[in-house]
Amino acid sequence: MRGHAPRKRFGQNFLVSPGIVRRIVEAIAPAAGDRMVEIGPGLGALTEPLLAALPVLHVVEIDRDLIARLRLAHPPDRLVIHEGDVLAFDFATLGDRLRIVGNLPYNISTPLLFHLASVADRVRDMYFMLQKEVVDRMVAEPGGSDYGRLSVMLQYRFVMERLFVVPPGAFDPAPKVDSAIVRLIPRAAGSLRARDAGLMGRLVTAAFGQRRKMLRNTLRDYATAADLEAAGMAPTGRAEEQPVDRFVDLANRLAEKETAGDPRRLAGPA
Ligand code: SAM
Repeated sequence: MRGHAPRKRFGQNFLVSPGIVRRIVEAIAPAAGDRMVEIGPGLGALTEPLLAALPVLHVVEIDRDLIARLRLAHPPDRLVIHEGDVLAFDFATLGDRLRIVGNLPYNISTPLLFHLASVADRVRDMYFMLQKEVVDRMVAEPGGSDYGRLSVMLQYRFVMERLFVVPPGAFDPAPKVDSAIVRLIPRAAGSLRARDAGLMGRLVTAAFGQRRKMLRNTLRDYATAADLEAAGMAPTGRAEEQPVDRFVDLANRLAEKETAGDPRRLAGPA
């Protein structure tokens, strides 16, 4: 790997297929005025073609050896390197209309997606490479086993599309599983907006925590049967059957009741 021993703990699988790199960069379509951030530039497979189109690119990288190489290869006014853990990186410091891209470290994909969801208001779009299985869960429709907390918590903030599948052979070292490119575009303000994002998260976590159980049991600390019915959910129904808008509707109704002084324990079980 050009003199770098890949570090498993940092999820390092480097892209080595020029054809796949070209397809990803074409999908991203970088343009000179874009405010773009790449997560995990690594050895620069995406960084270099992105820099060919952009006057300035921000990157967030944790591996000091890779950072040293990037510093040697690119002047600091063109490649702005943010050294450290992306899970602790405050994207808000970079402004808004952000375009966030990357071949993500798969070992932190779920917490990273939740971290990015929290900055959705500052984002124009995001393009990521992830395990295909994770992408399938992100874009899953209600009713199947792929549909769960990740689907609901991302779909209520983003319109998402799986663009194409990438086989293990496109990487060195090759991962054991297929990967896929996914595009996320934040939903317009007002559509599917949860008034209390924390409450929405607690409800969805409780509902899918025991996904085979009836909602009247899994959500008993939050909602009455009447609350569920008002949001279009049968109390005897299950989380995996419920479309995203019903969860948002329920969260908003409960937030409304809380404002009106209803004593039910919206903070969740003690
Ligand atoms: N973009 C390169 C490519 O496509 O070949 C590398 C992709 S590799 C799958 C993931 C990259 O994310 C590595 O460069 C790794 O060091 C970096 N990384 C891993 N964990 C990270 C973290 N917590 N914060 C920032 N970067 C991280």
